[in-house]
Amino acid sequence: MKIAVVEGDGIGKEVIPAAIEVLDVLALPVEKVPVELGYAKWEKTGSAITDDDLAVLKECDCILFGAITTPSDPTYKSVLLTIRKELDMYANIRPIKPINGIVGVTGRSDFNLVIVRENTEGMYSGIEELHEDVAYTKRVITRKGSARIADYACKLAKSRQHRLEIAHKSNVLKSDRLFLDVCRQTASSYHIDHHDTLVDSMAYNLIVHPNRYDVVVTTNLFGDILSDMAAALVGGLGLVPSANIGKGHAFFEPVHGSAPDIAGKGIANPIAAILSLKMMLEWYELNHQAKLVQDAIEFAINQNIVTPDLGGISTTREVGNTIAERVKQLI
Ligand code: ATP
Ligand code: MG
Repeated sequence: MKIAVVEGDGIGKEVIPAAIEVLDVLALPVEKVPVELGYAKWEKTGSAITDDDLAVLKECDCILFGAITTPSDPTYKSVLLTIRKELDMYANIRPIKPINGIVGVTGRSDFNLVIVRENTEGMYSGIEELHEDVAYTKRVITRKGSARIADYACKLAKSRQHRLEIAHKSNVLKSDRLFLDVCRQTASSYHIDHHDTLVDSMAYNLIVHPNRYDVVVTTNLFGDILSDMAAALVGGLGLVPSANIGKGHAFFEPVHGSAPDIAGKGIANPIAAILSLKMMLEWYELNHQAKLVQDAIEFAINQNIVTPDLGGISTTREVGNTIAERVKQLI
């Protein structure tokens, strides 16, 4: 196992060390390769990510990533977009599953779903024109791009409840007719129970009836919005992990950003980062270790050893230590 470790900026520098502490107690045969990327590096060197950095990332199996501040300076090239593109990470995965002991804004915890977002095309294809009085963004949906995300979503649904929900806007967007058709065909070929919903209706249903869904597949922009919204179902940004999956590589990161408002205070919740580590363990098919990490997180929450965002008084370090110590006991 060769893992690139990118702390990045802001609270990335606090939550990733907590996740690494947990990884270390698992005593796996891991080679960790620290890689410095991000805004702080850009300020120092004029480059947030170099070709050499990319070469190192490509040599590793996967990346554990904290967060990077993206300034609005137009000369700054987004590190995340560069990595996604270079490593062709086409699937963005966000499990939306309640953690025992915590309820989100809706107060319910009877759901367990995963949002699978296409990560390379759609509204974020980068084909844009900016003129004085008009601006265009081309929404590109390809059969190939749709087929590979549909395939990923169907395989995932097969390992879960065998249900696929396709979120789209094909009544208005012709490009989504292609997406919808390909998803339907793929689901049929996998013998998966599939259904589709217009994305606006999906936004409502996700909050009101989250228990209706197992795997939700959608295009890039819709997935971006739905998955942030769904994070509210499980109790906030400090708790939600994500994965970006490509053919040979994967990239695991908490959904939250670098949170400059609380950076350096030692109070960032490390659970989203530790759950990102858990997703990494699952990617390596280390399901037993992944379960230990989940149990240890629930232990810390039950002991009320949690950071202020969850109403506690513990620090990032204390939460990380508690989870790591618990994993050690459970091994
Ligand atoms: P960025 O530009 O890097 O995305 P941001 O200002 O958008 O940074 P986010 O990290 O997206 O900040 O977080 C939004 C808010 O949620 C912040 O005010 C932050 O305090 C809070 N938050 C985010 N992550 C955590 C965390 N792990 N623990 C506690 N609070 C968090
Ligand atoms: Mg943000």
